[in-house]
Amino acid sequence: MADFPRALIEFQRRFPDEPACAAYLAAARWPEGFRCPVCRHDKGWALGAAKPLTHECAACGRQTSVTAGTVMHGSKLALTVWFWAAYLMATHSNGISARQLQGQLGLGSYKTAWLLCAKLRRAMVAPERNPLAGIVEIDETTMLYRTSDAPVAGGRGRSSQGKMLIAGAVEVEDNRPGRLRLAAIKDFSAASLHAFVKGNLAPGATAKTDGWPAYEGAPGVAHDPHVIGPMAAHIVLPWAHRVFSNLKRWALGVYHGLRQKHLQSYLDEFVFRFNRRRSRHSAFRSLLGIGTTLRPLTYQMLIRPETTG
Ligand SMILES: [Zn+2]
Repeated sequence: MADFPRALIEFQRRFPDEPACAAYLAAARWPEGFRCPVCRHDKGWALGAAKPLTHECAACGRQTSVTAGTVMHGSKLALTVWFWAAYLMATHSNGISARQLQGQLGLGSYKTAWLLCAKLRRAMVAPERNPLAGIVEIDETTMLYRTSDAPVAGGRGRSSQGKMLIAGAVEVEDNRPGRLRLAAIKDFSAASLHAFVKGNLAPGATAKTDGWPAYEGAPGVAHDPHVIGPMAAHIVLPWAHRVFSNLKRWALGVYHGLRQKHLQSYLDEFVFRFNRRRSRHSAFRSLLGIGTTLRPLTYQMLIRPETTG
């Protein structure tokens, strides 16, 4: 849709209330007009004020919700809240934390805001996404994590701080960055790094590294090691280094440091925004689950991400 709002004020005019959001969802679901999912009949109508999200088939009477299959389905929150949250998350170049979202949208509780963010964030990894191809810079880094409510930069000493290990891969084409992948890894061993390469690079891609021996023999890819002193790594792998420094600045600026438990979901958020930096509209739609099918989520799955596989 070419007329996606680029400014907050436009967004507010475009989606002022539930019927406006519902109409957008109906247009996304039925771009050529209503079509009954049961009998394929092409005539139906939106039910009135009592059920504004529901369309009824004129032939068989089957009722279909415009939110079916999206992250909004079954939610008690207004569509306008979902739309605003997805818009802010998709268009803010730094994203938005649950705490900021709570304030911006006037949500009643932090838990509501956190769940909203967590559900939107779940849509940030497309299950069928294609692996990286061509020349791919690969590097690894460490990052301090925060514990409980202590920010990492709070000067509280290092005793409560530990390090998280992260692997990154950036496609490079004509000296410009393409798509990005980041993963939390448990160590810098060959096993961990080979698994990262295997999971994120297409067969035949070229892995460009700083010559760390653990990359040697990574399966299915050509290896292009540049053995150098640590000071020059940013010259050989400029995009990987820029991504890591942006990631660290973002983590401190938006979240005051990341928590170890949810590290991968924050990395996914960073990657999602990076990879859609030129297509905010598709980012907005992906976040809401428009045009995709999402598994239903429980609160337990969100607060214990390791149980979801
Ligand atoms: Zn029907």
